[in-house]
Amino acid sequence: MKRLFINGEWVEACSGKTRNIINPFNQEVIATVAEGDVEDAKLAISAAREAFDHGEWKHTPATERGEKVLQIAELIERDKEELAELESLDTGKTITESRADMDDIAGVFRYFAGLAGKDGGEMIESPIPNSQSKVVREPVGVCGQITPWNYPLLQAAWKIAPALATGNTIVMKPSEITPLTTVKVTELMEEVGFPNGVVNLVLGEGATVGNELAVSHDVDLISFTGGIVTGKKIMQAASGNVKKIALELGGKNPNIVFADADFDTAVDQALNAVFFHAGQVCSAGARLLVEDSIHDRFVEALAERAKRIKLGNGFDEETQSGPLISEEHRAKVEKYVEIGKEEGATVLVGGSRPDDPELQNGFFYLPTIITNCRSDMRIVQEEVFGPVLTVERFKDEEEAARLANDTIYGLAGAVWTADVDKAERVASQLRMGTVWINDFHPYFAQAPWGGYKQSGIGRELGKPGLEEYTETKHVYRNLDPEPLNWFK
Ligand code: NAD
Repeated sequence: MKRLFINGEWVEACSGKTRNIINPFNQEVIATVAEGDVEDAKLAISAAREAFDHGEWKHTPATERGEKVLQIAELIERDKEELAELESLDTGKTITESRADMDDIAGVFRYFAGLAGKDGGEMIESPIPNSQSKVVREPVGVCGQITPWNYPLLQAAWKIAPALATGNTIVMKPSEITPLTTVKVTELMEEVGFPNGVVNLVLGEGATVGNELAVSHDVDLISFTGGIVTGKKIMQAASGNVKKIALELGGKNPNIVFADADFDTAVDQALNAVFFHAGQVCSAGARLLVEDSIHDRFVEALAERAKRIKLGNGFDEETQSGPLISEEHRAKVEKYVEIGKEEGATVLVGGSRPDDPELQNGFFYLPTIITNCRSDMRIVQEEVFGPVLTVERFKDEEEAARLANDTIYGLAGAVWTADVDKAERVASQLRMGTVWINDFHPYFAQAPWGGYKQSGIGRELGKPGLEEYTETKHVYRNLDPEPLNWFK
């Protein structure tokens, strides 16, 4: 049984409760894990508090901390196949995707390991004679890190690596339905060897363990990746001690295709933009905006390709897309497609579960394309987080940018055109944290990731992703102290 990791030890939940972890492809139990609760979260927070306040970790030279973060990357590379298999079993995603995830994850640890020792602070020009001013960055303290089920280890890596590189102590809480790779990486961190209490892992539900991390006055920073409703709850819960918050929330990301774009490439990438990982990607290109003159031809070509996507077992090399994560999540996707129909949109492709008898035990849903959509429809505005593409048409640049910005979200978007000036003009109007020109989906450790508007607060990855885990301190020194005699 997989257990909780608190203060350097693997322990059962105080309540003794456990939870079965299910493979979404066939609903088989793949593991049993300890199910933590508020009491366990409190123990982990207190261990992390003690390690931060009285331990040596934050005083360890940054280069040494970087060295340990690098060792995590090396162990992930060593155990890549085991980690990839666990991720595919737990999420249903294809093994090819999981292997690529593990490469990215190792890359994230390598990147932040490299940054760890690079910050020497900064001298600033003081306007006061005979004085010196410097700005230094210090760790924030105890960091709660709550992650979702779609990219379980990748999202955790974006938080763990910068937090440790900068000298914080952490309490991780993975999604209760996909904890396995986070458990395995905690084992790897134990192998690397961090002082007790620096790394803690509590498995369990959001409403109990997650909420305790958000409300606790002993937690200094809460970093959350997940849905917008939960994000708002966390923001409120975090206000009790005004803890720092970093939120990576959802998106309803527009993919804008102009008539002068390379047709076949744009079709191929539009397909990938939305149907990759069954659409369970925060930056999925779930809103296609196509210029009027190519709309019908484009949608037809896309529909033809979408029908051919091979659903199946993620471990089968032929499989192009796995199942959705759970029965509950599939029900949500189905509900949204019904809402779209009621709103007057047309289901062109998909819109149901597959008939294939071999897929009946998994939470599968067919790649779905919905046309005749308008921006004011819920199916266009709200995040479905499944294999569902809505299509709208536009007549010119101005309308494309206006429609693209017309949601509460601002995570990512793409522009396809052969006219680079037009691409730059549209890109500059998009209120989004990431804009791709003639591409969709690339992200990497060097570039910041996060959302405008209600897609979140703060940035992960890149230098900003490291700075989130630091406080900034100005140290001012008077080189010639003498009485002021302000008060006579
Ligand atoms: P979710 O919000 O239901 O859960 C995310 C995590 O929060 C889980 O660990 C869950 O246990 C925990 N949680 C739930 N309620 C909580 C509470 N009251 N207090 C504290 N923690 C709580 O999201 P999900 O369904 O697991 O993931 C899908 C969502 O994540 C989508 O909306 C997606 O867009 C978003 N996401 C965003 C990014 C990004 O980078 N912006 C990346 C991946 C996923």
